[in-house]
Amino acid sequence: MSVAENLENIKKKLPENVTLIAVSKTKPAALILEAYQAGQRDFGENKVQEMVAKYEELPKDIRWHLIGHLQTNKVKYIAPFVYLIHSVDSLKLLKEINKRALQNSRVINVLLQIHIAKEETKFGLSFNEAEELLKSEEVQAMKNISIVGLMGMATNTNDQQIIEEEFCSLKSFYDKLKTEYPKFKYLSMGMSGDYKIAVKCGSNMVRVGSAIFGQRVYTNH
Ligand SMILES: *Cc1c(COP(=O)(O)O)cnc(C)c1O
Repeated sequence: MSVAENLENIKKKLPENVTLIAVSKTKPAALILEAYQAGQRDFGENKVQEMVAKYEELPKDIRWHLIGHLQTNKVKYIAPFVYLIHSVDSLKLLKEINKRALQNSRVINVLLQIHIAKEETKFGLSFNEAEELLKSEEVQAMKNISIVGLMGMATNTNDQQIIEEEFCSLKSFYDKLKTEYPKFKYLSMGMSGDYKIAVKCGSNMVRVGSAIFGQRVYTNH
């Protein structure tokens, strides 16, 4: 199946209010162009250097989503053009994004990454930590960032019930916050293996890579 056919098949399964982000990490620009020519405009990358290189090479109306862990010292490279940063999980990172956005005369949209999976990971906030961040005066005073929602990844398991519980718990938390933070509009959850469950639980932004572009081959490790 071609990239265009894959995109079409996935879009058929998505309700109209769900944004499909084509996760193009490790994939060459030529393949991204294939998706672009099929009408796709939202692309996700998890590495800053790779995203910058692709931004420079590809059409300028692409909306670039940074979906992987972001180090503060790399924010400056994407601040001029990034469309949405999904993976914000610290005050330090928010401060840096706000600073670099100001330097670029932009307001950068971000999502807070919430840790919902059973796996141990350094990344992602607990529900409490996210609420603390949102409430903090320091964050509320930041003029050049806009926190527009949440992102989460479910446990990597075949147990559909665990995945569904995790996604649905994030949806409840999102709904609760949305009543207090009217800027909230995106709940980013769901990947190739679990986006149907995520959508069922109320996701409105899915990040799909291998189901569009094929399996990734990592050659450098
Ligand atoms: C790689 C990645 C995806 C896409 O994964 P697939 O299983 O290929 O769809 C989605 N979200 C994040 C954060 C990723 O790193």
